Amino acid sequence: MEHTGKHALVTGGGSGIGRAIALALAAQGATITITGRRAEMLEEVAGLSDRIHPAVMDVTDEAAVRDGIATAADRHGPVALCIANAGIATGGPFLSESLDGWRRTMATNLDGVFLTFQAALQTLPQDAAGRYIVVSSIAGVRGLKNAIPYTVTKHGVIGLIRGLSEEFLRKRPVTFNALCPGYVDTDIVHSQLPGLMRRFDVDRAGAEAIVAKGNRHKQLLEVDETTAAALWLCSDAARSVNGQTIQIAGGQV
Ligand code: NDP
Repeated sequence: MEHTGKHALVTGGGSGIGRAIALALAAQGATITITGRRAEMLEEVAGLSDRIHPAVMDVTDEAAVRDGIATAADRHGPVALCIANAGIATGGPFLSESLDGWRRTMATNLDGVFLTFQAALQTLPQDAAGRYIVVSSIAGVRGLKNAIPYTVTKHGVIGLIRGLSEEFLRKRPVTFNALCPGYVDTDIVHSQLPGLMRRFDVDRAGAEAIVAKGNRHKQLLEVDETTAAALWLCSDAARSVNGQTIQIAGGQV
């Protein structure tokens, strides 16, 4: 198995895309630490594989992230595979956006990735190989209306991986890449459905169809489509892929 003996960290591993990536990496032999704020979600995923270990951690809490990742590395080894996936989707017209809402999105989607990558890299010896991946979004490569803070953070993390890929090039064997999915069938999308049902006076299926229209093939993506790209970036085959964004969005951009 390709990742036997490697320690992987997946933030937001209790649900959706993170959960699927954690399970797939466990199936390839890695030992995984999954993080999130809801212990019960993490316990449920950890119950599916004895290679998966839960760690309750809020990515906006600097001490929790630094201590949590250091503790996980003490237990399971340096973080060789790091999937910064935790994120929130916030929406609404720009002119009604509050500074608090803006800051909450920045704290989770941008500061959270900075803290996760920095704390995880600090566990990794200078000469150790690493694959560091952030789950950005199609909103990282194009503008998304009524989701300006989200769009800014998802563009921001692409700047982060591009900068890091330059900074580490020729110094350390760690690659940094971003996944940019379109609309995926997960809780983040489900949480937007009630608002759409009210706004467009449609049922749940109708609201889902409105979201799916954002993907060029007009279907919500399955989490496994993003998982496949993450597994490839973690594989030996992708050792020369660095500083890249991979869009999984039906060719939207
Ligand atoms: P989910 O809502 O299922 O996953 C989000 C995860 O992030 C949850 O497990 C949540 O756990 C965790 N999380 C949120 N805030 C925090 C926090 N402050 N600290 C720690 N963990 C946190 O949706 P997805 O799987 O879809 O989302 C995963 C990533 O994929 C996100 O970054 C999202 O922006 C991105 N994405 C999603 C798309 C989609 O259409 N679904 C499209 C493009 C990108 P908990 O609440 O327990 O903390």
